[in-house]
Amino acid sequence: MSRSVLVTGGNRGIGLAIARAFADAGDQVAVTYRSGEPPESLMKSGALAVRCDITDPEQVERAYKEVEEKHGPVEVLVANAGVTRDQLLLRMSEEDFGAVLDTNLTGTFRVVKRATKRMLRARSGRIVLISSVVGLLGSAGQANYAASKAGLVGFARSVARELGSRNITCNVVAPGFVDTDMTKALTDEQRENIVGQVPLGRYAQPEEVAASVRFLASEEAAYITGAVIPVDGGLGMGH
Ligand code: NDP
Repeated sequence: MSRSVLVTGGNRGIGLAIARAFADAGDQVAVTYRSGEPPESLMKSGALAVRCDITDPEQVERAYKEVEEKHGPVEVLVANAGVTRDQLLLRMSEEDFGAVLDTNLTGTFRVVKRATKRMLRARSGRIVLISSVVGLLGSAGQANYAASKAGLVGFARSVARELGSRNITCNVVAPGFVDTDMTKALTDEQRENIVGQVPLGRYAQPEEVAASVRFLASEEAAYITGAVIPVDGGLGMGH
């Protein structure tokens, strides 16, 4: 059965891999992109791309209206868009902290809230939030990012409790280090250091994160809600 799927930040990296996985399975996929170009290869396979900055409530509303017009109400939401602004705590400005929280946590609140309006009416829905292993482990130089990603866990579990009786699930995927633009900014030394701490001894590919997201949105995962699924090569074991 083809569902209406929305992936935020689906023009590149993990979001694009997630969108592809749903499109390959025959779903009607819409992605949001903020800057740059919409993902052409994905659109060739019939996906819809809408421009949307999730820090702006009006753009979020406009994006949903367009998706609803073309694909119907969103049945599966993947809140993937996220940013980093790394800095040691003493040098971290209010702006650095606030901007990361506004995108990663409040932006997720905006898109989830809007999706649940229609899911409640349909008495069905799947929501998957993309957090990070560092939300639970902490990370020097990433107090803003780690706080935003930890916040997603409390948020998801609250949504799972509020909406469970309406057959809406809300889960979190917490990736470790994934080969994308976000991690390309690291130096070779930083990369080697990270890989040295990962039991599986390598970075993840975006498709490996996408597989877990698709599972959580599938019929087989109907009884899973409020869960945090690590896709981190074992880095966060014990958390
Ligand atoms: P990328 O930096 O490659 O892509 C981030 C995506 O989010 C882009 O599409 C970007 O759009 C979008 N985005 C950022 N800010 C906004 C905004 N305000 N409004 C709308 N869209 C926005 O990151 P990844 O693919 O690596 O990461 C995807 C998610 O996975 C993020 O939430 C990240 O925190 C998380 N994650 C990544 C890990 C990794 O190792 N890469 C590890 C753990 C978690 P644009 O192209 O316009 O910038």
